[in-house]
Amino acid sequence: MNSSTQASSTAARPLGVLAALPQELGDLIAVMQAESGVVTRTFGRRDYHLGTVHGAPCVVTLARVGKVAAAATASALIHVFDVDAIVFTGVAGGVGESVHVGDVVVGETLLQHDMNAEPLFPRHEIPLLARSRFDADHALADALAAACERFIAEEGLELAARFKAALPRLATELPQVHRGLVISGDQFVASAAAVGALRALLPDALAVEMEGAAIAQVCHEYDVPCAVVRTISDTADEHASTSFSSFLTDIAGTYSTGILKRFLAGYRPLAR
Ligand code: SAH
Repeated sequence: MNSSTQASSTAARPLGVLAALPQELGDLIAVMQAESGVVTRTFGRRDYHLGTVHGAPCVVTLARVGKVAAAATASALIHVFDVDAIVFTGVAGGVGESVHVGDVVVGETLLQHDMNAEPLFPRHEIPLLARSRFDADHALADALAAACERFIAEEGLELAARFKAALPRLATELPQVHRGLVISGDQFVASAAAVGALRALLPDALAVEMEGAAIAQVCHEYDVPCAVVRTISDTADEHASTSFSSFLTDIAGTYSTGILKRFLAGYRPLAR
């Protein structure tokens, strides 16, 4: 047991940390290896890495891409690994007018934009759950947003210098942290028309990705707190696939590393 977990009776329960793709985990597994060693359990064709990262007991794994993959992985984290809470880190397309490549979005609410059982149920409503929006845990979202703000305050200038070519906007402006609606669907959104359609239906959407709201639904159903942090890799338009690929290779890991380091160092299992 370490000092960050002594205060709680749930000390033994780990935090589930998820990303879709390996680049999105940053240095998490390497830090775990150095700090506590890693125990890896393979289950449902996924590797679950157990150990301590920046003082917090964690189970770290890759969901892979899409809502089914994310839901299945969240379910395993809850039922096989008995996680205390789940945090998802990764990249997303910017949908909000003021959301730019290099910014960070912390989800306060998540919605599945491709769910449509009209006319039986209102657009986006999950049948039989009577809701379309799932809230992230407020305390986790607050802690993630604070970690993002500190990361940018402390490393934003260095990010700007390192990634000048890929993120020209950062040369003049530091990345912004946004909080609000993150939407998920089984589509890589890559056209101005598609973004326009999403904005018309969901004017408060900040970012689009492929996993977050599926995890939020599973966590809602099992009363497990969750939160989602997404760095904006593209603006979901015709340049999205090029922007996404170069961001993923060069930059996504730096953001996840910097954000999760600060978040995990202060993580306390939630009082429930
Ligand atoms: N495995 C492939 C495809 C990744 S799909 C590859 O490596 O190239 C894109 C991933 O990034 C998903 O996990 C999704 O959550 C996120 N993402 C980033 N930009 C997105 C966008 N414009 N639309 C949907 N998802 C996006």
